[in-house]
Amino acid sequence: MQNRAFDNPKIEFVFNKTVERIYGHEKIVGVRPHGTLDGSETNLDLEGRFIAIRIDPRTHLVHGKLDFNPEGTTAVQGRSSRTSVPGVFAAGDVPNPTYRQAGTAAGSGTL
Ligand SMILES: Cc1cc2nc3c(=O)[nH]c(=O)nc-3n(C[C@H](O)[C@H](O)[C@H](O)COP(=O)(O)OP(=O)(O)OC[C@H]3O[C@@H](n4cnc5c(N)ncnc54)[C@H](O)[C@@H]3O)c2cc1C
Repeated sequence: MQNRAFDNPKIEFVFNKTVERIYGHEKIVGVRPHGTLDGSETNLDLEGRFIAIRIDPRTHLVHGKLDFNPEGTTAVQGRSSRTSVPGVFAAGDVPNPTYRQAGTAAGSGTL
């Protein structure tokens, strides 16, 4: 996915910046990125903004208690939601290495 984005000429990557301000009244017109390495302050004109966060399921609660897969998901038996501890089940994003979506999360709760 990252390589596809790099190859897309319509996408410009801006690294080492945090968004300090969002400008606009009823409609966004720009943001003010702050350079985390050089302290630079610039304005970037925009017509829209999407906020994306990492997909990082909160599994720390069960670290050391359940078995995990190498990619960091809770290990379940086959296609079930049974974990390595009898009576403890994993459903939703935490056992899913691939499709972390609302539909698959809800569906896994039925297994
Ligand atoms: C920005 C974003 C956009 C997305 N857009 C889509 C989309 O368009 N379509 C789609 O299908 N999916 C989308 N998803 C994915 C979807 O939201 C998840 O796959 C789904 O919510 C996973 O469900 P879940 O029940 O496993 O986890 P969650 O919905 O994250 O529920 C986990 C719950 O556990 C709670 N919790 C965590 N730790 C504790 C604790 N220690 N004690 C008590 N409670 C705790 C959390 O507060 C949370 O309410 C998006 C996800 C993100 C982040």
